[in-house]
Amino acid sequence: MPVAIIGGGFSGAAVAWHLLRLRPELSHIVIVEPRAEIGRGLAYGAADPSHRINVPAARMSLIPDEPNHFDDWLIASGHLDADPAAHLADGRNFPARAVFGAYVNAEIAKLGERIRHVAAFAEDVTATPEGYTIRCSNGETVHAGIVVLAVCHVPPSAPTLLEAALGGDPRFIANPWAPGVLDAIARDARVLIVGSGLTMADIVASLDRNGHRGEIVAVSRRGLRSRGHPAVPSEPYGDFATEPARTVRALVRRVRATVREAARKGKSWHGVLDQVRWQGPTIWGALPLRERRRLLRHLRPFWDVHRFRIAPQIEEALDRRAADGRFTLRTASLRGFAKEGDRIAVTLRDRRTGVSDTSAFDAVVLATGPAHGRAFSDNPLLGALEAAGLARPDPLRLGIEVDQASRAIGADGEAREDLFVAGPLARGTFGELMGLPDVTNHAIRVATSVAELLRTNASRLVTDKS
Ligand SMILES: Cc1cc2nc3c(=O)[nH]c(=O)nc-3n(C[C@H](O)[C@H](O)[C@H](O)COP(=O)(O)OP(=O)(O)OC[C@H]3O[C@@H](n4cnc5c(N)ncnc54)[C@H](O)[C@@H]3O)c2cc1C
Repeated sequence: MPVAIIGGGFSGAAVAWHLLRLRPELSHIVIVEPRAEIGRGLAYGAADPSHRINVPAARMSLIPDEPNHFDDWLIASGHLDADPAAHLADGRNFPARAVFGAYVNAEIAKLGERIRHVAAFAEDVTATPEGYTIRCSNGETVHAGIVVLAVCHVPPSAPTLLEAALGGDPRFIANPWAPGVLDAIARDARVLIVGSGLTMADIVASLDRNGHRGEIVAVSRRGLRSRGHPAVPSEPYGDFATEPARTVRALVRRVRATVREAARKGKSWHGVLDQVRWQGPTIWGALPLRERRRLLRHLRPFWDVHRFRIAPQIEEALDRRAADGRFTLRTASLRGFAKEGDRIAVTLRDRRTGVSDTSAFDAVVLATGPAHGRAFSDNPLLGALEAAGLARPDPLRLGIEVDQASRAIGADGEAREDLFVAGPLARGTFGELMGLPDVTNHAIRVATSVAELLRTNASRLVTDKS
């Protein structure tokens, strides 16, 4: 019975790659993934060359022991020569995300027939005495002894007001990641982007590249824009893991004090936030559920903009447009949408002054990021797993509830020893688990647990037979 991985984005590919390295005698692994290529997923399937990785290439290796693995491939494959803008004067490389996807896919291709790609959606998984049966959208049925769920991102979810007013209207782009959707926006269109994080920045970069010359307004309740990378690369700084904070208040105090301390030593806040990220699982693990909930409610927007940094080339496009008045970021809430002829009248309420104003836009694009809280309702596979009692959402609705070994917890509250979760949907248990370095390390831990289980099962089989 093979191991089956459902979802062949980066997480699924990384689990497969490391598992085959740990267990060279495995004949093959099945990956169920509807996309044509393994290793891309949502983030690295982006066709737009202006969508760049937001972490330098030297930190995006599939093999953490070989940090330059991707950077070296980038040069050797000729992709860096083909895109000189990817290379910064300080030596860092920020190629298109699609190039990173090509790298992962090339590594998977080297495994040849040891990877069996079922190009379909997994629609249902049922537990059997021998393991699991996976029903796929192409009519195929896969039997597996161990299953790894590596499904992750879901499209953004529109605020009720927006969906009610504009749902189905072609001028409202609800899924900015659908291929080619931004091409319909005219060059002089006045565009409203709902959301102000990395997805918003990608949309501005795409429009800019398409020759868009109109005004773009981005709106979010806090009006926070993702920060850039430090001018000089910084080392992680501070310690948040020794006697970790038990409350959000204490954590914030400690982070602020460390940022001040770093500044006194001439270091930027970037290194402090990087340390918070590296020590994230310990910090998260020390917070009771009530405090985790409080952290998500109050701190998440601030964390997201400091933690997820913007690629310098995209930052340049935003700054350039902001300087010439073609990009504005509003701190406001959405109050109303009305169709007025060819245009959409949008009412925004400024969060600082409380004053509302209405102006007309030609297009509205949703950029609120993946709606992971809807993963169980939007991905039929997860819905089926929940209905069968095999998996359930974590209490904070960040994804799938797992134990410390990343095994899915079923309706009975028990971890299933042969059903694992890889990637960001396991973050309810581990806290920060989104950026590629963390996702890679998590995939390796999952691969190691699966390898260990295969070993235990094999010795059980020998004992049963003897
Ligand atoms: C737009 C975007 C850009 C990002 N850019 C970066 C970056 O530059 N650097 C960085 O460090 N991090 C980045 N991230 C973070 C990113 O989430 C991780 O780096 C990583 O790509 C997560 O990969 P994944 O495989 O877990 O998820 P996904 O990419 O979502 O892959 C999941 C896969 O599962 C498949 N799937 C879903 N349901 C089913 C089903 N029922 N049956 C079969 N297959 C299914 C999907 O088709 C998909 O291919 C980005 C995230 C987003 C959303």
